Amino acid sequence: MKTLVFLDLDNTLFQTRQKCPTEDALQFPVAYLRDGSAHSFMTPKQRQFWQLLNTNATIIPTTARDLDALQRVQLPFHSWSIIDHGGVILNPAGIPDAYWLEHMTSASQMAQVDLGALLEMANTVIAHQKLAARAQMITDFQLPLYFVAKYRNGKSGDLDWLQEHLVQPWVLARSTTYQLHRNGNNLAVLPRGLGKEHAVRYLIKRFNNEWGDLFTIGVGDSVSDGAFMAECDYAITPRDSQLFSATLKLL
Ligand SMILES: [Mg+2]
Repeated sequence: MKTLVFLDLDNTLFQTRQKCPTEDALQFPVAYLRDGSAHSFMTPKQRQFWQLLNTNATIIPTTARDLDALQRVQLPFHSWSIIDHGGVILNPAGIPDAYWLEHMTSASQMAQVDLGALLEMANTVIAHQKLAARAQMITDFQLPLYFVAKYRNGKSGDLDWLQEHLVQPWVLARSTTYQLHRNGNNLAVLPRGLGKEHAVRYLIKRFNNEWGDLFTIGVGDSVSDGAFMAECDYAITPRDSQLFSATLKLL
């Protein structure tokens, strides 16, 4: 039976320098900025976990990263990839899956006006309140997919303010069509048609048809990853991740 691992990347398999628990991690850079500088690192335990998975299973990165950001991760991925929070699925040759691209094109078109308006409001509020934050629309393969805001210069309270006063009420008023994800320096608004879980479900069904029975494992750190992990036979989360704190730590 083939083993598939749907693997979130940031804060699951590696993290930025500031979030690394020990200096040891800095020996293992794996993701880079556009200027080529090392940005994210694996701890020795994350490296061991990667080796365990990579030796025994087919790994499918399941990430919010867009294509450009995925290409700046220096790990040997050989199979399919789920990127853009599930907005795009790449085949092993790196080509977007045509069916999925068409499916997401209609979801993207429906959300474009709303998310564009949210972005404009966010930019106005950021300028008006002088918040150390930056908002943008994540667009990949010409599809506007989701809204994301991040804080700057360590000012997490500025992103909290934006969330509380603009983004959260905006999403609450449209909760049947949009959802909010917040984990650390990442505040995202996604149309409900967009989500890693939809892409994971699609690929599991497709591979079931091609390869028969599968053994699937979902790995992620964010509460929002729980939905795609729930599509899998087993679910793994790092200790002290957001998901761990919201579930296992409470027991
Ligand atoms: Mg993550």
